[in-house]
Amino acid sequence: MTSATSPSPLKIHHKSQLSPLDMPERLLLGPGPSNSNPVVVAAMNRQPIGHLDPAYLALMDEVQDLLRYVWQTSNELTLPVSGTGSAAMEATLANVVEPGDRVLVGVMGYFGHRLADMAQRYRADVKTIQKPWGNVFSLSELRSAVEEHRPKILALVHAETSTGACQPLDGVGELCREYDCLLITDMVTSLGGVPIFLDDWKIDLAYSCSQKGLSCPPGSSPFTMGERAMEKLVRRPEKVANWYLDMSLLKQYWGSDRKYHHTAPINMTYAFREGLRMLAEEGIEQSWARHKNTAEYLWTELDKLGMECHVDQEYRLAPLTTVRVPAGVEAKTVTQAMLKDHNIEIGNGLGELAGKVWRIGLMGHNSQPENVDHLVSALSQVLNK
Ligand SMILES: *Cc1c(COP(=O)(O)O)cnc(C)c1O
Repeated sequence: MTSATSPSPLKIHHKSQLSPLDMPERLLLGPGPSNSNPVVVAAMNRQPIGHLDPAYLALMDEVQDLLRYVWQTSNELTLPVSGTGSAAMEATLANVVEPGDRVLVGVMGYFGHRLADMAQRYRADVKTIQKPWGNVFSLSELRSAVEEHRPKILALVHAETSTGACQPLDGVGELCREYDCLLITDMVTSLGGVPIFLDDWKIDLAYSCSQKGLSCPPGSSPFTMGERAMEKLVRRPEKVANWYLDMSLLKQYWGSDRKYHHTAPINMTYAFREGLRMLAEEGIEQSWARHKNTAEYLWTELDKLGMECHVDQEYRLAPLTTVRVPAGVEAKTVTQAMLKDHNIEIGNGLGELAGKVWRIGLMGHNSQPENVDHLVSALSQVLNK
């Protein structure tokens, strides 16, 4: 016989020392997250309502319209995925990769590797083409690779946040249609900050995040899917292997059926709506121009300090700059001092560029000349020590 003693609950230690949450405020000038627009923060600070409340349903429609505007698309299936950018990334692959499908991934940095890894998990036959970190693929290189591998899907990172390079997409959509292949693009760091013409560029699936160019906290991530991708989804004989991200289910909630799928992150949608509203109020083209001007100002100021950018100016991303660590300087010591002494976060290099570059983000609300002034003054003080 087992004894009938009840389990003793775990105790919280130091309960008497628990105080209300108190977190520092930072200037976030790294690869993300970026600071949220104060309007966004204020919008989140209220009670949630029900996810089937008519007021919430109206908000969903508004968010979808605003998202189509920032993507420059008329895709019906355009919505925020619940989760961060990687969830939206996974949603693109989960919905169109069928086991055995050949997926060609252009790898020119860390996030290209992530795409290849994810595609493999959905049992794709993954092929990659590679570029040194900081470079981009030419259209003719992409054409030869598509001719050689004949993929069902080509996946490219538009804005490689690990390197600061922007992959030109002109002509890639046409190439994919010529070879009856779908085009997926990672626009996590480009949406809102770099010109994107999703429909004109004939992109079939794309995804982004809320915490970089959209001036929101992380947690709600733009996703869009065109007709050709939808046809592949509808034709597939097996169910999508990921229930949470299955667009054939999600579209019943975001479309006219309003069928319950999962509880939407209500307050994130408040934030998201306000982030998108601020962007629409400014105008998407004005936002692209602001990012470009602020980045060019940073590049000039870095040049004055004798520092070098890692990427050729022609392919440099406005929202994210990689700057080379000067010889004899310990990269991490500098990022630590920037945070500790100046309250500014910048990013260290990733992968091949670890220890070789810093990553400076001027994204969304943070893309302002005053922030460049703060950063450059702090950086030169730290480097002079
Ligand atoms: C940030 C980023 C991601 C991942 O987004 P999370 O919000 O961190 O999940 C994916 N791709 C690129 C290019 C990114 O910069």
